Amino acid sequence: MRATVIHGAGDVRVEQVADAALLEPTDAIVRVSLTCVCGSDLWPYKSMGADEQGQRIGHEFIGVVEETGSAVTGLQRGDLVVSPFTYSDGECEFCRESLHTSCVQGGIWGSPGNDGAQGEAVRVPVADGTLVKLPVEPDDALLPSLLTLADVFPTGHHAAVSAGVRKGDTVAVVGDGAVGVSGVLAASRLGAERIVIMGRHTDRTDLAREFGATDVIPERGAEGVERLRELTGGQGAHAVLECVGTGDSLSMALRLARDGGGVGYVGVPQDGEGVDVREIFMRNVALGGGVCPARAYIEELMPDVLSGKIQPGRVFDHTTDLDGVPEGYRRMADRESLKTLVRP
Ligand SMILES: [Zn+2]
Repeated sequence: MRATVIHGAGDVRVEQVADAALLEPTDAIVRVSLTCVCGSDLWPYKSMGADEQGQRIGHEFIGVVEETGSAVTGLQRGDLVVSPFTYSDGECEFCRESLHTSCVQGGIWGSPGNDGAQGEAVRVPVADGTLVKLPVEPDDALLPSLLTLADVFPTGHHAAVSAGVRKGDTVAVVGDGAVGVSGVLAASRLGAERIVIMGRHTDRTDLAREFGATDVIPERGAEGVERLRELTGGQGAHAVLECVGTGDSLSMALRLARDGGGVGYVGVPQDGEGVDVREIFMRNVALGGGVCPARAYIEELMPDVLSGKIQPGRVFDHTTDLDGVPEGYRRMADRESLKTLVRP
């Protein structure tokens, strides 16, 4: 079969790889119908050292179950499923606490020994716990929005939940990438009254406005913090969603928060800089978040996607086939596209 392999910075190739095959009785094989490129895929795309062997990549997919191991009971050949960006058994102590990303049997797509999602098929470990059946046909127009349940929309939601967004709140969102605009949608869904997106790409902040943002602040750093304080009577935001993953953005998020407010950070930290707890100690700002346990949120978020109440799939502004994946990475890295949708 064919799949995407990353060999270093700027070097993504679509190659012939070993067919996805059952290894354990709890595995399923899923033929990928839809996958996509994540903002977090861009970090290795920008910085990974050259590696001739390469590494499989991609962690978001919808597909059709093709084969199941003898111990799989909840899935059948032909089921249309979405997978969260990590696999998990759904049974251990952490899974039962809705922290599926800490599952004792868990792992992530594209890591050594695991298939990546940007390919024709994926071997899914602990398939009963991992996969969620979709109650639609494989050609349903809602599929791109349902694909966002794999990662980007739950991640925005996790930022909002971790920041403690409540009805009537003023919320600031740092970052206008796909996670940032998804965070706007999530905050709006949770009832935030005023949502300020900190971003400077107008095509993205325009989408954020359609998702519920009421204000846009293009300035960064101290100037951006000052602008938000002007908008909020000098106080700052009740809840701040950090959706970038640099020390600078986290530092800014902490300073955007109102005294007693919260910051939810979901950007994959690329450096440990900028986080100074002394900045927030005297103001009782809470810091929450981390890697999103997407599996925990799928059932909660799916009904609003199925009903059409929210359309998180609007983050996709470029569609390609498997051959177009390298170009999809380039477009996202060069900010020509917000998020690339792939139909293998
Ligand atoms: Zn578990």
